[in-house]
Amino acid sequence: MAGTFNVAGVAVSGEHFIDGRRVDSEDRFEVRSPLDWTLKLADVARGTPATAEAAVKAALAAFPGWAALGPKGRAIHLNRLADLIDQRKDDIAAVECMDMAMLLESLRARVIPRGALNFRNYADLAASHEERAWSSKGTANRVIRMPAGPAVIITPWNAPFMLSTWKCAPALAAGNPVILKPAEWSPLSASVLADLVAESDMPPGVLNIVQGYGAEVGSALVADPRVRRISFTGSVPTARRIGAAAAANIVPFTAELGGKSCLLVFADADLEAAARKAAGQYDDSGQVCMAGTRLIVEESIRDEFLSLFNAFTDRHVLGDSRDPATTISPMIHPSHLERVAGFVERARAAGDDITRGGRIHREGGLWYEPTLIRPRSNQSEVVQNEVFGPVLTFQTFRGEAEGISLANSTAYGLSGIVYTGSAERADRVGRAIRAGTVWVNTFLVRDLTAPFGGIGISGLGREGGDYALEFHADLKTLQILEGSCRS
Ligand code: NAD
Repeated sequence: MAGTFNVAGVAVSGEHFIDGRRVDSEDRFEVRSPLDWTLKLADVARGTPATAEAAVKAALAAFPGWAALGPKGRAIHLNRLADLIDQRKDDIAAVECMDMAMLLESLRARVIPRGALNFRNYADLAASHEERAWSSKGTANRVIRMPAGPAVIITPWNAPFMLSTWKCAPALAAGNPVILKPAEWSPLSASVLADLVAESDMPPGVLNIVQGYGAEVGSALVADPRVRRISFTGSVPTARRIGAAAAANIVPFTAELGGKSCLLVFADADLEAAARKAAGQYDDSGQVCMAGTRLIVEESIRDEFLSLFNAFTDRHVLGDSRDPATTISPMIHPSHLERVAGFVERARAAGDDITRGGRIHREGGLWYEPTLIRPRSNQSEVVQNEVFGPVLTFQTFRGEAEGISLANSTAYGLSGIVYTGSAERADRVGRAIRAGTVWVNTFLVRDLTAPFGGIGISGLGREGGDYALEFHADLKTLQILEGSCRS
């Protein structure tokens, strides 16, 4: 079929998916594999404002029927889609691995199944929601969640399948048709999702997938006044642009943005567990928004912690993401690799101490060595800004107050990690850290009903559980004078 590519043995369409059909654009953009940059994976349709127009029209046409199905009717479709994801998880994992270079084993075992879970969870959550009802001042009151209308969902290149499903599921469960615009660096797993949507018999126009560049088709989508929700995950500069478009149309907007999270280690902690987790922040080449990239360690345990941390970091294996021995995957794109290297070079030039790593790993490869930097000051660029690569900073503190103050000293507030053996401290410090999620003695354990989001420049609004369903709904208070109607 024209416009279909063989990616890791899976047929992947390079076209958009609008109104239940594959649609092309005049121009295409090239997608290469971070596992082998000489390998072209696909030529993908380069959406234009006309593509955005077609997708919004399709979503608008699908809206009344999808809304009328109600949560239980929609749950049937979402559960069917979840089943299909489970059946095709190996294919999706293989495509995502070639396209984005996340470790194949972790994609198969964790990341892609979580995509199915996202749809199942939201199918259940929306279907089991009970309207709030109460009596006051002589009236019977009810709070009704009404589907809001077409939702535009814009996702970043890291963890594209998981994030797309995490964001599409609540919108669909709430009754909003969706237009998903995946990132141009890793657009292929979304195209497989489109095939599954078609196979699941979801009504045409309910889930549309538009490919292309943010500045071209993405900006047209978010500027359309018929779009009633915008849900974005990505960088702070893009959020500012999308937020301005949302404000112009008075459209609710959520933004899940970058982080510069702390990994705060107290002397009373299990140091081995803390050091192992600290070395684990290099996983996925550090391309993880929630990563604890600032190691902040109590002065009295500095040497012991560093020797454990270095021992765990030495065990990392840089390699091909399909090889089970690999623990650190290649980075997504040569220009991102250069961007990461630029941070380290500027740190070096400014007098920060590069204590390990600090180099592009291999000629022709897209790896950056796991890097640890002792900054000359807390104001160093590499402490205050998200690098989004395998680059950690190391600082020490004396006393809880100084530790908390360092932890809270950036403009970001996505998450935080604390290691301590004291229950009182866990509660005290956990509350004091300014972040949307704080993990104590663990990391990345997620309950999908919990709110997730950032404080400060890490984001606006919350996803997860009921919080996302509320975002995607227009709430109405219905008041009926008691005794005024016969049943
Ligand atoms: P990005 O902001 O460059 O792009 C994200 C998406 O926005 C892409 O699909 C892009 O095409 C689109 N886009 C760009 N300009 C646009 C415009 N003017 N209008 C509409 N859409 C536009 O981000 P990225 O580099 O793809 O992703 C990395 C960033 O995402 C990092 O900062 C990372 O921390 C963040 N992130 C956050 C979370 C979270 O949950 N908080 C999760 C993953 C990634």
